Amino acid sequence: MSYLFDNYLPLAITFKSAQGCWLTDTQDKQYLDALSGVGVVGLGHCHPAITHAITQQAQTLVHTSNWYRIEHQESLAKKLCQSSKMKKVFFANSGAEANEAAIKLTRLYAKKHQINAPIILTANHSFHGRTMATLSATGTLKVQQGFSPLLPEFIHVDFDDIDAIKAHQANSNIVGVMLEPILGEAGVIIPADNYLNKVQEVCHKNNWLLILDEVQTGAGRTGKLFAYQHNNISPDILTCAKGLGNGLPIGACLGGAKVADLFTPGTHGSTYGGNPLCSRVALSVLETIETENILDNVNTQSIYFLSQASLVLAKNTIVKDIRAKGLMLAISLDKIYPDLIKQALDIGLLINANGVHIRLLPPLIINQNEMDILIEKLNQLIGSLS
Ligand SMILES: *Cc1c(COP(=O)(O)O)cnc(C)c1O
Repeated sequence: MSYLFDNYLPLAITFKSAQGCWLTDTQDKQYLDALSGVGVVGLGHCHPAITHAITQQAQTLVHTSNWYRIEHQESLAKKLCQSSKMKKVFFANSGAEANEAAIKLTRLYAKKHQINAPIILTANHSFHGRTMATLSATGTLKVQQGFSPLLPEFIHVDFDDIDAIKAHQANSNIVGVMLEPILGEAGVIIPADNYLNKVQEVCHKNNWLLILDEVQTGAGRTGKLFAYQHNNISPDILTCAKGLGNGLPIGACLGGAKVADLFTPGTHGSTYGGNPLCSRVALSVLETIETENILDNVNTQSIYFLSQASLVLAKNTIVKDIRAKGLMLAISLDKIYPDLIKQALDIGLLINANGVHIRLLPPLIINQNEMDILIEKLNQLIGSLS
């Protein structure tokens, strides 16, 4: 009998250690981690710079409180704002909490503009988190089931369909559009190149906030520090988490000029958010992304994955589509194969699957040799299905 609630259904595998892209289980079997703890350990497991930052900070100061100034939090805020051209940051402990802050900011923005029943447009099949507000924002029934009443302020529209957004322009209660630049949990759904530009245009025209959930796409995952930077746009609110702490819990909600003065003392907070340890480590993550030219590697390996996958994997007739934006990778199959994740584990590979989509989020430090191993294992896996 387990004393844990049954909300997870863990596979009967326990990892005991890891290094780079590789995990070792308690039977000493090795696995290539093509999931990075679901988009978290972008710099790979136990990256020396991050291990150094953790141990050094753990020996110095782990936690105080946001009642006092926190030097590393201020440095991290400066670095994040300068590299995203945003104005202000609030630090939380997770992606959902970063999105909660974004939703609270949007309510304050609505009040300021005398909108008493604010509505935010979000996408069908999106994922924004598991708290009450963020699961209401999420466009996936499976996440919402059983938890009604939901927050009333979200209207879901089709992703990558600008007309679906424009159709709501007459609704004066709308205050913002909240989107993932790429639908992550839904299976790496990449919109048209100029979709976000068009969304920004509609937002500007209607004085709506553009809220981007970069919890998964941020921290270098798509080959830019933030995915929206591919589009040269400027969101009003930007959230980030997963890759930011390389395994330590931290989330960030960044605000631009339209919302920069909305959080006043006492309006929001978090006990742990932005504590010295997590801030110091996130700062090291951002510095390491720069010093080790991680974004260059993401782009190089992304191109290499696409070329090798179309050479090798596309030969399998059950492969219907191969997608990549940076190191957000997906392979769509002809139908659902329910045992895919277990079959991959058998051959020493960690993947995710959603419906017909195999989703891969390998560490951003993956090298060409490891990419070859990934392709080879995927080919073995997919070949065994047909
Ligand atoms: C994972 C994810 C979240 C939720 O983050 P948590 O840290 O699990 O709360 C929110 N939005 C997106 C796009 C995500 O991928």
